Amino acid sequence: MTKLKFKDKVILITGAASGIGLETAKKFLSEGGIIAACDVNEKGLEEAQKSLGIKYRTYKMDVTNFPEVERVIDTIAKDLGHIDVLVNNAGSVREKPLLESNIEDFDFTLNVNLKGTYNTTKAVMKYMVKQNSGVVVNVSSIVGVYGNPGQSAYSASKAGVNVLAKVWAKEFARYGIRVNSIAPGYVRTPLISGLSKEKIDEIKSKTLLGRLAEPVEIANVILFLASNESSYITGQVIGVDGGMII
Ligand code: NAD
Repeated sequence: MTKLKFKDKVILITGAASGIGLETAKKFLSEGGIIAACDVNEKGLEEAQKSLGIKYRTYKMDVTNFPEVERVIDTIAKDLGHIDVLVNNAGSVREKPLLESNIEDFDFTLNVNLKGTYNTTKAVMKYMVKQNSGVVVNVSSIVGVYGNPGQSAYSASKAGVNVLAKVWAKEFARYGIRVNSIAPGYVRTPLISGLSKEKIDEIKSKTLLGRLAEPVEIANVILFLASNESSYITGQVIGVDGGMII
């Protein structure tokens, strides 16, 4: 019998009600994990739990609100005893070229993607340090590496997330904690459902593989980075973009 890779491990995933976060939760469940599924979308969490069962534990949490994040994470640690893996996945995008954008859009995007990652990691890390073990995976984006026209805030937020992985890898290696970022290209999820067919075709044509990613192709790499199979990888930004040229 093959051993389940995450048997009884607790995996905290933000933005777990949809897209990449939900697919990642399913993969961890299939490897024996227990999910602390966090999201602002309570209805989405409830719907997912109906099909995924009680090992998908749901927690309403807005990553932009630090007091709420701290309270929820303390509750998760009490409920489940330990937090072995953190997947910083909650994210949002508001596309506008610089001259059409406004400060509110910029603040909103930075708050969810960058500050949300900071808030959640800060609250979880104290438990990982106490345990002397843990793995953090930030879900960033390839635009945080190359920049993308029309996405000032989103690109800046994801570049910030990438560098935070490097900072935290350096701060926490001494506690046996690894931190990496994954930088997907475009993935078929609700996040990009507003894009026109023309835009999607243009995106596909910019990838060597000629297509979008499926959420499971991102989830597979998140599981790899969270597992002992990647035990010598830390402080890295791993591109999963079908060979995208921006
Ligand atoms: P999605 O919209 O399907 O899922 C995002 C989830 O984050 C939603 O469930 C949403 O409710 C949650 N969320 C949003 N704001 C939140 C907040 N303040 N607090 C808690 N939860 C919040 O999108 P997705 O494509 O699955 O995105 C997941 C991550 O992947 C994001 O960080 C996104 O930037 C990144 N990403 C997506 C793509 C893509 O093409 N879909 C590409 C690169 C990176």
